[in-house]
Amino acid sequence: MIKISNLVKRYPHPSGKPFTALNEIKLTISKGEFVAIVGKSGSGKSTLLNLITGIDQPTQGSIEIEQQAIHQFSEAKLAKWRGENVGIVFQFFQLLPTLTVLENLLLAMDFVNKIPTAERTQRARQILEQMGIGDQMDKLPSLLSGGQQQRAAIARSLANDPDLIVADEPTGNLDSQNAAAILSLFQQLLSQGKTLILVTHDLELAQKAKRIVHLADGEIIDQQINHNHDE
Ligand code: ADP
Ligand code: MG
Repeated sequence: MIKISNLVKRYPHPSGKPFTALNEIKLTISKGEFVAIVGKSGSGKSTLLNLITGIDQPTQGSIEIEQQAIHQFSEAKLAKWRGENVGIVFQFFQLLPTLTVLENLLLAMDFVNKIPTAERTQRARQILEQMGIGDQMDKLPSLLSGGQQQRAAIARSLANDPDLIVADEPTGNLDSQNAAAILSLFQQLLSQGKTLILVTHDLELAQKAKRIVHLADGEIIDQQINHNHDE
C-alpha cells in the first residue's frame, strides 16, 4: 500500500547548514498492517508522518501510496487526497473548540465532500457510538475528559472512511487505562481492514503492533516483526 524510497527531509537551520531530519528512509507497509514507529524525541517520527500524509514535502525520495506518487501532488490535490484517504490523530486531539463533537465530525465530512450529504449525520452518530461516546456528541469538546476527547478525535479521523489511519503519540496525553481503551479502538479498526501507523514512545503499546520500526537521528536503525501477532 505504501512504498517509501530513499526519503530525505532537510529543514533550514539558522546556521545556514540545513538540518537532516530524515536520511534515506526506505519502508514498505502493506494494506491492513499495524506498524509502530518508535524513537527518542527528535528522531524524526513526526516528520516521517507529516511526509506520509503529505502535510509536508520531502527534500528527496519518493512516497507511493496505492500506486500514487503523492510527493509529486500539488497542494490542492494533496489536500483532497488526504481528506478522502487518510485519518490523522494527534496527541492533543485538535478538535475545534467552538463546535460540538458531532459538529466536528460533520465539518470534516462537509470539507471533504466524499460521504453523501444525506448520510452524514447518521454516519457521524454511528461512529461516535462505536467509539463509545455516543452520549457526548452534543457537547463541546472541552466538557469531555481527555480520554473522551481522544475518542472523539479518532471518530473524526474516521469520518470520511479512510483506508489509512496515522496517529502521532495518540496516547501521550492519557493515563494507562484510557491508553488501553484507545488501543482497543485501533484494534477494532484493524479488524475492519484499515492500515494503522502509530507513532509512540510507549514501548508497551508499540509491542501490540505487527511491526516496530525504530528511528534514531532520522534513520531506521532496526525493524522488529512480532510474529505472535500473525492472524
Ligand atoms: P520526533 O517526532 O521524533 O520528536 P520530529 O520529526 O518532530 O521528531 O523532529 C526531528 C528533528 O527535526 C528535530 O531535531 C526537530 O528539531 C527538527 N525539526 C522538526 N520540524 C522542524 C522544522 N519545521 N524546522 C526545523 N527543524 C525541525
Ligand atoms: Mg513528534
